[in-house]
Amino acid sequence: MANKRDYYEVLGVSKTATQDEIKKAYRTLAKKYHPDINKEPGAEEKFKEINEAYETLSDEQKRSQYDQFGFAGAQGGFGGAGGFSGFSSSGFGGFEDIFNSFFGGGRQRTSNGQRAGEDIEKQMNISFEDAVYGATKKIRVSVDEVCTACGGSGAYSKNDIHTCPDCHGTGYILRRQQTIFGMAQSQVVCPRCHGTGKEITKKCDVCGGTGHVRKTKDIELKIPEGIQSGMSIRLEGYGGAGQNGGPNGDLYITFNVLPHKTFKRQNNDIYLDIPISFTQAALGDTIEVPTMWEAEKLRIPAGTQSETVFKIKGKGVKNPKGLGRGDQYVTVHVKTPSNLSKEEIELFKKLESVEKVEKKSAWDNFKEGFKNLFK
Ligand SMILES: [Zn+2]
Ligand SMILES: [Zn+2]
Repeated sequence: MANKRDYYEVLGVSKTATQDEIKKAYRTLAKKYHPDINKEPGAEEKFKEINEAYETLSDEQKRSQYDQFGFAGAQGGFGGAGGFSGFSSSGFGGFEDIFNSFFGGGRQRTSNGQRAGEDIEKQMNISFEDAVYGATKKIRVSVDEVCTACGGSGAYSKNDIHTCPDCHGTGYILRRQQTIFGMAQSQVVCPRCHGTGKEITKKCDVCGGTGHVRKTKDIELKIPEGIQSGMSIRLEGYGGAGQNGGPNGDLYITFNVLPHKTFKRQNNDIYLDIPISFTQAALGDTIEVPTMWEAEKLRIPAGTQSETVFKIKGKGVKNPKGLGRGDQYVTVHVKTPSNLSKEEIELFKKLESVEKVEKKSAWDNFKEGFKNLFK
C-alpha cells in the first residue's frame, strides 16, 4: 500500500479536476496501456493502476473519501464506500471445488433483463501420468470483463443512455396479428433494443458499445488425481460475456487422457502385460513388476500357464469421485523359446525323453479319453 501512487498522479490530473477532465484523462491512458494494444512489459500493471484510480475518482462519494482518508477511504473502510473493489477482483470466483462440477453444482441465473453468458466447453489433452497423479497446469484463457469506462452499459456517458421509445423500457412489445380465429396478441422481445429497454445514442469508445473488454489471463488449472477421459472441470465466470450486467457463463474444460506406452487403464484399474520365460512359468519365480507407483514383487507359482492374470491390490488409480483406489492386473505371457543354443537344444531333448518315459503327454491323455467315450 505504501508504494501505491496517488490516484490523481496516476491519471495526471489536478485535485480539482472535473469529472469530464478525469474521464478524458482516463480514456486516453486506458487506450494507451490497454493490454490488447500495448504489449510492452508493465503495460498491464499500468492499465490496472489506471483503472483502479478511475474507479475511485469517477465516483464522487469514493473520491471525497479518498481525498479525506487516502487509500483506506477508497477501499471501503469507511461506511459509504462499501462495495469498492480493485480492478483485479472482477467478481470471477476462480475455481470452484472440483467435485461441484462432477455433481452438477449449477449457478443461479439472474432474470430481469440480465442474461447470463453462454457456457463454453474446451477439450484438453493430458498425459496418462497427469491423469493418474493429478497435476497443475498453467493455461491461458480469454475472458470478457466488464468495461470499466462505461461500467458495462456500453454508453459513452450516462447522458447517452435513453429509454427505448418503442418498448418504453420494458424490453418487450406486444405484437397483434390477424389470424383466421381473429386477432391474436403476443409479447415479443423489442427488436429495437433487443430486450435491454435502453437505447444508446453514443457508444463507449473503450469497448465499442459491447460493455466488455476482452482480457487474456494465465490461470492455474488443478487436475485432480485419478481423472478420466470425458470428465470436466468448471471454471466459473470464464465463459461467454453476460448481457445487461448478467454474469459471464462458465468454461468447462473436458479432459482427454492420452494412452500410455506400457500401461492400460479401465476406470480405476491398471492393466499390464508382462512376458515371462518358459522356465519361469514351469519352475516358478519372483519377478519385479512396474506399477504407476513403486515396483512390486510378484510371485509366479511353479506351473503357471500363459495368460494367467495376477492382481496387485491397491496399485491402481485413486477414485476421483470418492474414496478408494483401483488395483493393478498383470497378465503374464509365457514366451516359447526360439533361437535355441546348442546347449539349450541338448537340454530340451533330454527333457523330452524324460517326459516320454515318466508321463504320458497331454495329447495321449486326450486320445485315450476320446476312445473311452465310445466304449
Ligand atoms: Zn425497446
Ligand atoms: Zn465500455
